[in-house]
Amino acid sequence: MLPERVSVLVAGAGPAGMMAAIAAAEAGAGDVHVLETTAEPLHKVLISGGGRCNVTHACWDPRALVGHYPRGGQALRGAFSRFASGDSVAWFEAHGLELVEEPDGRLFPRANRSTAVIEVLRHAAKAAGVQLHTGVALRQARLLNAGGFELELRRAAGQQQRLFAQRLVLATGSHPSGRQLAAQLGHSLVPPVPSLFTLSLAGDSLLQLAGLAVDPVALELRLAAQDCPPPPGTGRAAGPLAERFRQQGPLLVTHWGLSGPAILRLTAFAARALHAASYRAELSVNWTGNLSHSELERHFGQARQQQARRQLANWRPWPELPKRLWWHLLQHCGIDSQCRWADLSKQQQQALIASLRDSRYRVTGRGPFGEEFVTAGGVPLGEVNLASMESRLCLGLHLVGELLDVDGVTGGFNFQHCWSSGWLAGQAIAAAQIEPFQGLSC
Ligand SMILES: Cc1cc2nc3c(=O)[nH]c(=O)nc-3n(C[C@H](O)[C@H](O)[C@H](O)COP(=O)(O)OP(=O)(O)OC[C@H]3O[C@@H](n4cnc5c(N)ncnc54)[C@H](O)[C@@H]3O)c2cc1C
Repeated sequence: MLPERVSVLVAGAGPAGMMAAIAAAEAGAGDVHVLETTAEPLHKVLISGGGRCNVTHACWDPRALVGHYPRGGQALRGAFSRFASGDSVAWFEAHGLELVEEPDGRLFPRANRSTAVIEVLRHAAKAAGVQLHTGVALRQARLLNAGGFELELRRAAGQQQRLFAQRLVLATGSHPSGRQLAAQLGHSLVPPVPSLFTLSLAGDSLLQLAGLAVDPVALELRLAAQDCPPPPGTGRAAGPLAERFRQQGPLLVTHWGLSGPAILRLTAFAARALHAASYRAELSVNWTGNLSHSELERHFGQARQQQARRQLANWRPWPELPKRLWWHLLQHCGIDSQCRWADLSKQQQQALIASLRDSRYRVTGRGPFGEEFVTAGGVPLGEVNLASMESRLCLGLHLVGELLDVDGVTGGFNFQHCWSSGWLAGQAIAAAQIEPFQGLSC
């Protein structure tokens, strides 16, 4: 059982809650307790990054960092100015975990396993005196007139307990119970929708190329006009909505459709619009990445002159263009792959260039999630003081991590927001100079 009165109670032992608890306890916040409804704290850290945990990203400037958050964005600049990727690297190093940067900027523990991150967080919590209670859920929370919170907990075995906490941190991730608790305490909620998923192209002949990776491609997703009500807290006007989203980067063709970093980034930024359009859209793929029309004409011209006697199937206009894709585009344009380069007509060349620059696909739905998955939506940022993560509506309540309407693209940005928001909440709680709890008795 927990004591009847505690200084700080954190609901949720995910990365955001653990960071908030450790930061508060290390900064002298008094007794800090963390509740975790499951038997396994930090479960998502364990399964993250394919079991390696992509802890953060080598994006050191807060002004650039905010660009990786489809929800959150510029509003997070102040918070990241106080604790961003460089601070996470330093924090973990000070607690005994060295992070190593990969060529694409992602940072992983040197041990290359997520358990190393979990060990460091659990050890830091223990060393700071944080008390972790597993198999205990926070069920109800009520703000008291005299300050502090009356809370109702439930253990896995079914026993209930009431207690008082002077400060409450909600760090419940995308779990519906956390959203209900935030609503009980007066917050509104931006409805949750999935983010960071792949796209389905059911029945498309492109799926025959499953396993093909192309880097870079340029993507444009086009969504038909929708009459969709604006989500609360987004500040967007109601009315018809026709949207386009663009991304560039590596793409992977799969058995069901398209995946890879460029698609995950695209679906993160388009998460709400795609949801409103029932995941139906048109996708244009520029398979050349950055090549202009005149550069393509030059490549084709060179091939016609220098490889005139070769068959199209045996010579691609430029060597980096994958063979399987080239053959597929020849077939798609109805051009005989045995045709010699010298015999390629101007019209056929234009058709191939058009396909290379703008192949159109019908998105038929959402594919499985990528390696990372997050929920867009949650408590609107306007209801939270982002310097302290304290609620503007309910004094003494702090909200951190995925419970907020913040989500990042793939690459370590989601954990970064957890470290930043958790650390800021912990510092603010300690700085509030908690006095011994005087609250009402049960
Ligand atoms: C498969 C996968 C891989 C990922 N990989 C990465 C990655 O490599 N890098 C990255 O940046 N992001 C990654 N993410 C995203 C990242 O895991 C989340 O953004 C992050 O875990 C959110 O942290 P959080 O602390 O807000 O919530 P969570 O991690 O969800 O933790 C919330 C905790 O609160 C508990 N809880 C809920 N309600 C209650 C309650 N009422 N009382 C008590 N406890 C409660 C839950 O059981 C949970 O343990 C990945 C996500 C998935 C699903």
